[in-house]
Amino acid sequence: MKQATSHSREMGLQQAAARADAHHVVAILNGDVSANEAQPLRDYCDAWMRAGRSFVEMQDHRHAVNDHLRQWRLWCLGSGVEEMNEPTPPLPPGLILWNPPECTDGRPALAYGIEGSAYNAASRAALRFGLLITSPEGQLLGRCPRCRRYFLNTSGHRNKVFCRPECARDIGARRATRRARTLERDVKLRRALSAVAKLNEKAFDKDVKKWIAKQAKVKVWWITRAINRGELSLPSNSSVTASQYRRR
Ligand SMILES: [Zn+2]
Repeated sequence: MKQATSHSREMGLQQAAARADAHHVVAILNGDVSANEAQPLRDYCDAWMRAGRSFVEMQDHRHAVNDHLRQWRLWCLGSGVEEMNEPTPPLPPGLILWNPPECTDGRPALAYGIEGSAYNAASRAALRFGLLITSPEGQLLGRCPRCRRYFLNTSGHRNKVFCRPECARDIGARRATRRARTLERDVKLRRALSAVAKLNEKAFDKDVKKWIAKQAKVKVWWITRAINRGELSLPSNSSVTASQYRRR
């Protein structure tokens, strides 16, 4: 029982560490933390989301990630390493460690190592990305269609799209405005069409657009634009034809 509790606490710590790492990646992606691997990391993450968060579907990017990751090696540090089948310190000269643990308290710790010559923005981006997508947090990565910021969807709602309620509300408001405008245009167009229909019974004069505009309670330019869009057609002087109502 005690063992199980300690095991689950260990798991909890690992999850918390993965979550913290993922938040760090998001901060880099958003430019909140300066890192020169930000751009290649964005390319990988955008491709990851386009591919439905599936590495297999990432195609060309998958090869680039693998090529860079191939240069990284996993190293075991700290005391107690003799029991493990990993190389022990001292490390080969020229090897750079990724996030070396500051203090292991005598416990062994894993770290990624790479030759100094291969330690660059591209290889760091590949490792950050690789670590992210091999943790459950990789499935939580999202990019807000409104403000374009990256975020981790920790809301528990799988289909969350926007980073904050403000962004979601904003989009909702814009949709409502667009709907209202379309509705208003439809009303004006119906009035204009009924005016055109009445034209048939009236004498056709030079100021026909002005007359229709007055009937439809719109400006003359509105009538001109509706005609140019093909939503409204005026009957010709000689042959009075039925006008077409074309919904967008
Ligand atoms: Zn947003």
